[in-house]
Amino acid sequence: MDNKKIIVAIDGYSSSGKSTMARELAKRVGYVYVDSGAMYRAVTLFALRNNLINPDKTVKVAELISRLPEIHISFRSAGEDGVQHTLLNGEDVEKEIRDMQVSNMVSPVAVIPEVRSRLVAMQQEYGEEKGIVMDGRDIGTTVFPNAELKIFVCASPEERARRRLREMIQKGEKVTYDEVYRNVVERDRIDTTREVSPLRKASDAIELDNGEMTPVQQMDWLIEKFQNVTAE
Ligand code: C5P
Repeated sequence: MDNKKIIVAIDGYSSSGKSTMARELAKRVGYVYVDSGAMYRAVTLFALRNNLINPDKTVKVAELISRLPEIHISFRSAGEDGVQHTLLNGEDVEKEIRDMQVSNMVSPVAVIPEVRSRLVAMQQEYGEEKGIVMDGRDIGTTVFPNAELKIFVCASPEERARRRLREMIQKGEKVTYDEVYRNVVERDRIDTTREVSPLRKASDAIELDNGEMTPVQQMDWLIEKFQNVTAE
């Protein structure tokens, strides 16, 4: 691989396969991988554990903001399962942040501007040395507007819900297709309509509709785009 280190920003809709692509690209080219969604999920888990969500499923915004300094998020590099794990105040919460309880509350937490500015600052620090692949919703628009390679991933909500359901069942979660479908559609709605950094394709991002593509085809496509940019 070429020596020119770049920033790769991969944005897109919920469960569009961004993380899998981003993780695999980072592994192949020896870059750092950062799952920004895991950071919003970790803040959400903190809120759930600390009674910062009302019974009607709204967020106690002022209280959560006042407790943000207590939240420390870090990553542990690939463990036995080969996957990077997310740590919340030193505790491995990788499994918990993927469950339905967190999935159902994460988008309402992610609309809070103070939560976003804190996490965006951390994400920008990770990218200071380049050589990073980050996936999320606002990476190419807000976190790294100057990223050298920006990808925007989409696929139909039905296809994304099917993929997510498969993943969750493999991990032993007891969920139904309807539950997962509703969650995917609702997160898309909140993520695209929020005031601060809504999910949208950056004007210079390359769009990938991966609905009909195999994982191998997606990786070939992505590696080609990466090589085009790093070889320039
Ligand atoms: O990527 P993932 O689906 O795990 O992200 C969970 C949620 O975190 C998203 O639905 C979105 O509400 C929020 N998020 C965000 N900005 C990012 C990454 C995730 O608002 N950069």
